[in-house]
Amino acid sequence: MYQGLKFFLGVYVLLLTVPLAAQPAKDPDLVWYESFFQGKKAPVDKALAKQQAALKNAVSKNDKAAEAAVLKEIGMLHLTGTENREQAMDYFIRALAIEDSLALNSKQVFTYMAIARVFSDIGDYNKSEESLENALVINRTLRNTLVHVTILNQLGQVRAVQGEREAALRNYEEVLAFKDEINDPRTEAAALFNIAHLQTQEGNYDEALATHKRALALSRSVRDKAGEALSLNDIGELYRLMKNNDKALANHVASLEVRQALKDRKGIADSYNNIGALYYQQKNYARAVANLQLALDAAREVQDQSQTLKSYEYLSASFKELGDYKKAWEFKDQQQLLQEFMNNDKNEHQLLETQNRYEIEKKESQIGHLQTLRLQREKELRTQKKLQNFLFLLVGLTVVVAALVLYLYLVKRRSNKILEAAHATVNEQNLKLQELNATKDKFFSIISHDLKGPLNSLTSFSGLLLHHTDSLSKEEIQMLAKDLDKSVKNLFALLENLLEWSRSQTGNIEFKPEVFDLNAVVEENRALLKAQAQQKKITLNNAGEGAWMVRAHKNSINTVVRNLISNAIKFTGEGGQITTRLRRQNGRVIIAIADNGVGMSPEVMKKLFRIEAKHSTKGTADEKGTGLGLILCREFVEKNGGQIWVESEEGRGSVFSFSVPPEGAF
Ligand code: ADP
Repeated sequence: MYQGLKFFLGVYVLLLTVPLAAQPAKDPDLVWYESFFQGKKAPVDKALAKQQAALKNAVSKNDKAAEAAVLKEIGMLHLTGTENREQAMDYFIRALAIEDSLALNSKQVFTYMAIARVFSDIGDYNKSEESLENALVINRTLRNTLVHVTILNQLGQVRAVQGEREAALRNYEEVLAFKDEINDPRTEAAALFNIAHLQTQEGNYDEALATHKRALALSRSVRDKAGEALSLNDIGELYRLMKNNDKALANHVASLEVRQALKDRKGIADSYNNIGALYYQQKNYARAVANLQLALDAAREVQDQSQTLKSYEYLSASFKELGDYKKAWEFKDQQQLLQEFMNNDKNEHQLLETQNRYEIEKKESQIGHLQTLRLQREKELRTQKKLQNFLFLLVGLTVVVAALVLYLYLVKRRSNKILEAAHATVNEQNLKLQELNATKDKFFSIISHDLKGPLNSLTSFSGLLLHHTDSLSKEEIQMLAKDLDKSVKNLFALLENLLEWSRSQTGNIEFKPEVFDLNAVVEENRALLKAQAQQKKITLNNAGEGAWMVRAHKNSINTVVRNLISNAIKFTGEGGQITTRLRRQNGRVIIAIADNGVGMSPEVMKKLFRIEAKHSTKGTADEKGTGLGLILCREFVEKNGGQIWVESEEGRGSVFSFSVPPEGAF
């Protein structure tokens, strides 16, 4: 069993002893692990001394991770170099404890794989499987597929050795299921090679042959010479079992050539022995001897006892067939001696192994303890994860709520803005409405005020007609009727004016300027108000001569002139004088209406022209007023681009002046 296992693991290991550069993403820990099973090794003593120094260094620096790495390295040197498995186990367990405390999961995977090797080496396959299962569980969280399949290949090996062929096959088939993902032909070839072995054991030679050929093709595709030689050798053995000696020979020869190129002395011994055995079976004893001699040389060179034994056995048998009994006996003798030596060695080894096993299994309880710790920590991690998930959920919910609040706030802010805007619009409209209302009030006051003036002159005419009909001549009545007609027309014009003004207030009127003679307007108003003046024996003079052309809205200017003359009459006593003058000043035409009436104090003057002050006093003949005439005047003058002002002295009279743009103005 021991030899079988060794051969088996040898096969497996050799398949992995290939250049790894082609796989750029390969786990460095996996590369490290596999490097220990490569053919050529540095002298183990030197390597151990170097690692012991490194261990001291790591301990002195208290670098736990480095310490674990060195401990594992030493363990591997004992496992593969000194073959002191007890020591190896000791170091692995120390490494495992550190890795466990630092939660170095990816490192632990390989420690468990190494421990599994210790167990399989001492024949404790159950423990070996257990360790590999541990490695699988830890690696599952790391999701490293290449490591996963490497563990599976190792696990398959352990199961195959125990005769658990189906379980082993399942492991290898799982490796193959990952072949596209891992894209590593060597690992795939290893699984196929192992499957072919199982098939051979079960006597399914045809299937085994096909599987071996697939493995061979894969090895060739990546120029894996060692793998190719192994496959060729096994195919040769398979053909021998199938009794196809020609093909068996051809494959063994091909394998030999590759092994020679690789200078693989063990392999060469194996191939020559296989070829020799084939010739022996074919009863070609001379050729058998020639090959077996070469096998013996190579086997002795590398001290390969099993190959040497095989060479002795076949050489003895061949010489016997050739009739050279002396040589036959000599080789038989050597065979028996070696066999005995090997048996002793094996017994000794087994004894040692039993001791080892006892020691190692003692240590196993430590692994169990570590495992419990790991499980406990995993449980803690799971609880932590749950808590974390809960916190995530909480944070998520908070974020959602916050987002909702923010959204609602934004919506509210937007609606507030809309409301504010609506409010502003409403306010604006309110103001406009207030303004309109004020304008409306003003309008009604103005109508009542300005209608009164002309109506007064109308009543004067009608009074004259009514009370003096008999004393008036027909001509005089005609003249009065004419004046009456003129007054009515003027009143009509005034009404029109007022309506126009009201429209100006609502923004509907255009103060469209026209060129007209301001002096003519003065004259017209003097004529219109003459009768009114005459009643108070006031003289209305116009000092303006000729045409004074201006550019303004005629109707509104006419209203201003009429208002000012009207006021002058109103606030001048009997026998007074009113004079209208025109002049040019700063490129404008200025009209001044001067009276020698009651005049005004400076306080009263300050109140004029302003709607908010609205000053009004009764006239000299007790005439009532509203205090709006001058406000209207100011508005019309300013609308025409002019200015209005007053100079006055109490008891001496007043001068109301306003400016109008001249003809050429725009
Ligand atoms: P009303 O004449 O209807 O009162 P006005 O706006 O025309 O309204 O005039 C306002 C006031 O200004 C008058 O009530 C009066 O006190 C004063 N006023 C206007 N014109 C004269 C004037 N020529 N002489 C003295 N005071 C005047």
